[in-house]
Amino acid sequence: MRTYNMLIDGRPVSGEASMPVIDPATENEFARAPDCSDAELNEAIAAASRAFKSWRQVGIEDRRALVSQMADRIEPHVQDLARLLTQEQGKPVAVAVREFDSTLRFMRGLSTLQLPETINEDTSVRRSTTRRVPIGVVAALSPWNYPVLLSWWKVVPALLAGNTVVLKPAPQTPLTVLRIAELMADLLPPGVLNVISGGDHLGPKMTVHPGVNKISFTGSTPTGRRIMESASGTLKRLTLELGGNDAAIVMPDIDIGLVVPQLFWSAFTNSGQLCVATKRLYIHSSCYREVADAFVAYARSVKVGPGLASESQLGPLQNARQRERVQALISESKAQGLKLLYEGEVPGGPGFYVPITLFDNPPDDSKLVVDEPFGPVLPLLSFDTVDEVVARANASEYGLAGSVWSRDEALALDIASRLETGTVFINEPHYLSPHAPFAGHKQSGLGIENGVDGLLEFTEPQTLMWRRS
Ligand code: NAD
Repeated sequence: MRTYNMLIDGRPVSGEASMPVIDPATENEFARAPDCSDAELNEAIAAASRAFKSWRQVGIEDRRALVSQMADRIEPHVQDLARLLTQEQGKPVAVAVREFDSTLRFMRGLSTLQLPETINEDTSVRRSTTRRVPIGVVAALSPWNYPVLLSWWKVVPALLAGNTVVLKPAPQTPLTVLRIAELMADLLPPGVLNVISGGDHLGPKMTVHPGVNKISFTGSTPTGRRIMESASGTLKRLTLELGGNDAAIVMPDIDIGLVVPQLFWSAFTNSGQLCVATKRLYIHSSCYREVADAFVAYARSVKVGPGLASESQLGPLQNARQRERVQALISESKAQGLKLLYEGEVPGGPGFYVPITLFDNPPDDSKLVVDEPFGPVLPLLSFDTVDEVVARANASEYGLAGSVWSRDEALALDIASRLETGTVFINEPHYLSPHAPFAGHKQSGLGIENGVDGLLEFTEPQTLMWRRS
């Protein structure tokens, strides 16, 4: 078995203890990762803290050059890294390669962002300017659905702004991130980027640690609430990217043949384990049956299987707990008498598979419509008027994203502007950009990722005010 090390203070650290990493397609342990001890965590945070003193003094253009070189270090290894990602995460290799394409696009895009400096007042009496200074040690906690992309969404802006980082990938998917850390071990000064891995015990220790100044977390809303509590002890700065229950609104003027495959992938990419996946599909009643039939026909054509098999389009869910959660939601919905529209097939034998499952117009108050499934299950819902669908889409504690599908651009823009979410996609499934702020409204999060606004989250303003002599 290959060994994986943490990166602490520029050195590989094998760790006093280790934990299993499970292949979701076989349910077998295929590797072990370090399970970071308290002493190793303290060492990583102390190293980040020491490194901060000099890293913050490095000019931003030098930091920018180093951060953009991180992408160059990864690029030649994408094919191997993608296979490793498939083994620990479950997604098909082609989808894993796409995660790397996005990661490199974001690394390069984020590293071009500029920190603004503003002049507040400039008179003969006084001059006042505000610049942005780094915060200190950032604890970056990334999830198991997009372990690579979502780690670098945090690391790149944190480093660019002059902070140092302790990155912890999710306990279920540590390997690809550890391997990437190994590739960049000698690129940055020791302690500037530390990467540790560990079980469920590790996250809570990081988020109460007095040596951490800022937390950037992606995961579930309940854990986000707990992290906010942990952070209160030392008033740590926080960015939380949490759950979503995104509505897609389909108007009757769409080209069904063109749009249905896009709607399918907006919901089922990564087996539905995506924060901005479509989780409620609202279809205008005049085309409901036709769209639903085309959706089922498309779903039938999609191949579910192990990510390492080249014909697989959807893999297993990432972990056993998630499979149980999604299966329980499906069983409960069936037991309630909700009408099934389609239930697909999965390979026999091991693997955390859940079939593609579509429900036909369930009531708005069913758990299936209210909760975030985070798996390959989707309610199709019929609506009659725009006012009605906007109200139904907004009747959620979440406010991450949503989408509108119509050939009438003015109408689509009007509907989009009435949705209470941080992002709305129009006639395209979830395209995200390093230059566009991404933020959850309501209980979908706190703070912003990406764009200059996202970069500013890793800084504090410092205003200099001086009286002219
Ligand atoms: P989770 O996303 O809530 O994360 C659990 C992790 O958070 C564990 O590793 C745990 O150690 C850590 N944690 C718990 N308390 C903490 C604290 N106080 N400080 C720091 N870390 C703490 O849970 P999960 O079981 O991995 O996934 C559950 C649900 O989360 C899914 O069903 C899905 O809805 C959602 N999810 C969302 C995303 C996303 O991209 N927004 C990603 C993964 C999962």
